[in-house]
Amino acid sequence: MKKHNYSAGPCILPQEVFEKSAQAILNFNDSGLSLLEISHRSKDFVAVMEEARALVLELLDLKDKGYQAIFLGGGASLEFLMVPYNLMKENGKAAYLNTGTWASGAIKEAKFFGTTTVVASSEEENFNHIPKGYTIPADADYFHCTSNNTIFGTQMKEFPETDIPVVCDMSSDIFSRKIDFSKFDIIYAGAQKNMGPAGTTLVVIKEEILGKTGRTIPSMLDYAKHIKADSMYNTPPVFPVYASLLTLQWLKKIGGIEAIEKINDAKAALLYNEIDRNPLFRGTAAVEDRSNMNATFLLNDESHAAKFDEMCKAAGINGLPGHRSVGGYRASMYNALPLESVQVLADVMKELETIV
Ligand code: PMP
Repeated sequence: MKKHNYSAGPCILPQEVFEKSAQAILNFNDSGLSLLEISHRSKDFVAVMEEARALVLELLDLKDKGYQAIFLGGGASLEFLMVPYNLMKENGKAAYLNTGTWASGAIKEAKFFGTTTVVASSEEENFNHIPKGYTIPADADYFHCTSNNTIFGTQMKEFPETDIPVVCDMSSDIFSRKIDFSKFDIIYAGAQKNMGPAGTTLVVIKEEILGKTGRTIPSMLDYAKHIKADSMYNTPPVFPVYASLLTLQWLKKIGGIEAIEKINDAKAALLYNEIDRNPLFRGTAAVEDRSNMNATFLLNDESHAAKFDEMCKAAGINGLPGHRSVGGYRASMYNALPLESVQVLADVMKELETIV
């Protein structure tokens, strides 16, 4: 039986993506060859890469607006250093908003390249909210933020207005809600939440911001080189890119970001309503900053944990324990998680209330 999969990433993908990608491993495009045994320069794979890159821009409404989408290896963590390498001038300065573990990781890497100013941080409150009302220095080379904090369950609902380039780590909420994506100059996201399997990172870049640092950038870390080579500077992660294409095709078919946002809003409302209604539970993130992707919550009385865990297991719920740095529970409700799965969890929470 298919489980209700609340994994934080890698995570649930549409069932048809699993089926079609399994088929492509056995016999790709009816060619008598596996996707895994053909050249990345073959006509069939070049078509995959081209369609995936174009579909990203189409879904984000960034077509013909000066953006390029590339698929890199190395995980979102590699972008923590590629961003300053490509954007921070020699003796330059960058501004960061610190909203969680991953934002802190990005700040740590930027410090290797130059002055890194943290404009605001919620670290002292264990990242339970998104700081607001901060000032972004006008002389910084760029501003970096994290749209959704996977571990702490907070999400930026608004983005600051600034004249400097804006970079956003959207690893855990890309393609989940309508945003004016043209406000950003670089968007990056590890595939393994809303897009595909682990192994590739999507980077969307407004081309005009590159080439201004005065730095010599090693080839593999140079966005311009990857763009020039049509995201094939070296052998790309062929399987993750193909499975990502299938997920993007699925998203387009069901109505794109606008349609999935409605479903995501319904899932989040269902779960947060139960967390707030049920006297056994409480949410950990500030209500106005709650993430629609990762809902973090605790049992008010830890002694009910064994019973709750046992009931979740019996209901086929997988991946609910919170991140090791937070504890409690984290329900990750990425695009492919059906509303019915959230109903199952809410029902288990209700049932617990009736028996303890
Ligand atoms: N940023 C965010 C928001 C994340 O959630 C993660 C991973 N969960 C990362 C960055 C790091 O991604 P990767 O493991 O692909 O390097």
